[in-house]
Amino acid sequence: MQFYPSIEKSEVQEIKAFQEKKLKELLAYLEKNSPFYQRLFKENNINIGDIQSLEDLQKIPTTSKNDLQEYNHDFFCIPPNKIVDYSTTSGTLGDPVTFGLSDSDLERLAYNEAISFACAGIQKGDVVQMITTIDKRFMAGLAYFLGLRKMGASVVRMGPGIPELQWDSIFRYQPKYLITVPSFLLKMIDYAEKHGLDYKNSSVYGAVCIGESIKNQDFTDNILSQKIKEKWNIKLFSTYASTEMSTAFTECEHQIGGHHHPELIITEILDDEENPVKEGESGELTITTLGVEAIPLLRFKTGDLVKAHYEPCQCGRNTLRLGPVLGRKQHMIKYKGTTLYPPAMNDILNDFNNLLCYQIIIHSNEIGLDEIIIKISTDSESENFVNEVRDHFRAKLRVSPKIEIVDFDVLSKIVYNPNSRKPITFVDLR
Ligand SMILES: [Zn+2]
Repeated sequence: MQFYPSIEKSEVQEIKAFQEKKLKELLAYLEKNSPFYQRLFKENNINIGDIQSLEDLQKIPTTSKNDLQEYNHDFFCIPPNKIVDYSTTSGTLGDPVTFGLSDSDLERLAYNEAISFACAGIQKGDVVQMITTIDKRFMAGLAYFLGLRKMGASVVRMGPGIPELQWDSIFRYQPKYLITVPSFLLKMIDYAEKHGLDYKNSSVYGAVCIGESIKNQDFTDNILSQKIKEKWNIKLFSTYASTEMSTAFTECEHQIGGHHHPELIITEILDDEENPVKEGESGELTITTLGVEAIPLLRFKTGDLVKAHYEPCQCGRNTLRLGPVLGRKQHMIKYKGTTLYPPAMNDILNDFNNLLCYQIIIHSNEIGLDEIIIKISTDSESENFVNEVRDHFRAKLRVSPKIEIVDFDVLSKIVYNPNSRKPITFVDLR
């Protein structure tokens, strides 16, 4: 198959040797073209000839988000007149980082997305409805479009929001797949039920889910996913990517984590001391991009905590798979002796049918401890609703957050901010 690279079926040792060859090419490219890495090699007395194996990567310091922000310009390996597209990171912290893409980077991005969608079973001739932003300097939306075009699928570019228009388009163009933030599927189901649309017999077979987790760590469906499937029996595939990685990890039909594409990226999972974690442990995903021309990254720390799985998959791919993101490292909350991450709280809140929308806010109190405030909108008539939510938190996470009820019209405008690419369900004020 065209979009099932043979290297992904190779033996693990062969994949490693392949990546080591690519790594050497990358190091030579960086030494020649990257002002940032030229300086890093020089300041740390790194002779790139000493880096022969993937293990040798540990001799090179990691690159942080801060480096990218502070020295953004120095990461560019090509002149401005070679840039075809300017994308930026979503910039939840400070200024967004600019990522230029060259013509060959766009080609790489298309190939990446094509092999990633092929993993989820999308084929030439399938109709795919994109319920995501394609503009606003959003790299992923562009990647989806280019990847689908490359594989010969037909694309319906709907953009996010407005369930009525999404359904109109589904009935008109009969898409087999949707690409969407999974929680939006609940809004679409709700709209369909209120307006008597026969959504259960629609053309939709599956949805590629971005931005939110749909699985527990053991790959069982999380609450969000269960709630969608209870109503609408479609396949949900998770995909995980970021602007910095310019690479997607997407699940195959066996749905046991996002597959790694060895032609495009080297992965390391590191502990707090930047040592590789033991197999089966979670750590910070640290990546080295392969084949990127404008802004290649070497040992970039993504901030995402994940666990890798190494057993071969029934689909025939021998590449590692990434489990659902546990959380972002910087979002770790320490609450009265408990450590937790926002995704675990999302899971609790998604369990309440009467909860229309929510936002989790973390701030430091006057003695420097983390405080959790959860703003919720509800259509529950029960006076006890807030207590029920709090009790659920106590039972499942052993924390007791402050809960405030906010009018839906007010809160929904804050959560579904048109300037944001995804719902703003978490605000960190620390
Ligand atoms: Zn697989």
